Amino acid sequence: MTHPFAERLMAWYRRHARPLPWRNTRNPYYIWLSEIILQQTRVVQGQDYYLKFIETFPDVFALAKADEQQVLRLWQGLGYYTRARNLHYTAQYIATELNGKFPDTYQQLLQLRGVGKYTAAAIASFAFEEPVAVVDGNVYRVLARYFGEETDIASPKAYATFFALAQSLLPADQSATFNQAMMEFGAMQCVPVSPKCMFCPFQLECVAFATGRQAQLPVKQKKTKVRPRYFHYVVLRSEEGDVWLKPRTSNDIWKGLFDFYLVEGENEVVMESALLNDPLISSLRKEGTEESLSKQYVHILSHQKIYARFHTFVASGSLIERLVEKNAPGLRKIAADELTAYPLPVLIDKYLKETHF
Ligand code: SF4
Repeated sequence: MTHPFAERLMAWYRRHARPLPWRNTRNPYYIWLSEIILQQTRVVQGQDYYLKFIETFPDVFALAKADEQQVLRLWQGLGYYTRARNLHYTAQYIATELNGKFPDTYQQLLQLRGVGKYTAAAIASFAFEEPVAVVDGNVYRVLARYFGEETDIASPKAYATFFALAQSLLPADQSATFNQAMMEFGAMQCVPVSPKCMFCPFQLECVAFATGRQAQLPVKQKKTKVRPRYFHYVVLRSEEGDVWLKPRTSNDIWKGLFDFYLVEGENEVVMESALLNDPLISSLRKEGTEESLSKQYVHILSHQKIYARFHTFVASGSLIERLVEKNAPGLRKIAADELTAYPLPVLIDKYLKETHF
């Protein structure tokens, strides 16, 4: 028998679900794309990216064949670029190793790179109707409030606790609808701030509503620490109209994207000495190159706050090439009007736009 909570939740969903482009499809490729795009992204923003992706890469073979730069370029602005690289890797894996056939069980889906428990459950239930519950921030919130469940959602046992609860409510023959309904209910009705309790079908049984604890549930104790970073970018511009970009290859943020020559300091003071000691900057100054400094840009990522300045040096192309070869051989010379063809972090894109580069 379907649990009364599930009945009422699905009834609510049938009346209020938004007509999103990835709903009403059983195609696991589309579902997978939408779920990866929507991680850490608002639905309104994610929708445009999703449509762009399926138009450019209509199936897993098309995505597998693309080069990484093209994928990152399309992804630009969504952040968390590891997701895009994993997406590309997994498409290649499915196209070549599995002959394009998507794994069709929760356990097999979990083996794919970039696919965690939440995404595996979403694909397994939406595409294959496997009865496995999705658990994300929306689900934590709805269940914590409705049942008055006080497990700290940042604690290691939170996932297992809420998964067991969600799984006990899930109707085996309607897992897709139930999971979609949970997520939609959390996104539209039982929202983090000011949930719409006055028009809620669960008003009579909801523990949070009865006890006025909507703002205290779900419980979340730990706060993630944000690390400040100090970036000083060196923008080399030749009088002939070229600039020098650097591919980001190390295991840091923005791997696979391009930015400028970068000097990083531990704080503002250390930054000054890092600049004085940098071989490329010292040799540019020795040559009497024209230079200018931008305002400070502050760019916030999930665990990092970046304070950046852009230091522009303008000189003849031959001089820059000589200094680059000696002091910064990884830089790549490109024509300034080709910059937009490269995948760039949002911070760099913003600087280019603001300065009408
Ligand atoms: S009554 Fe309020 S807190 Fe409870 S489930 Fe409904 S919207 Fe959420």
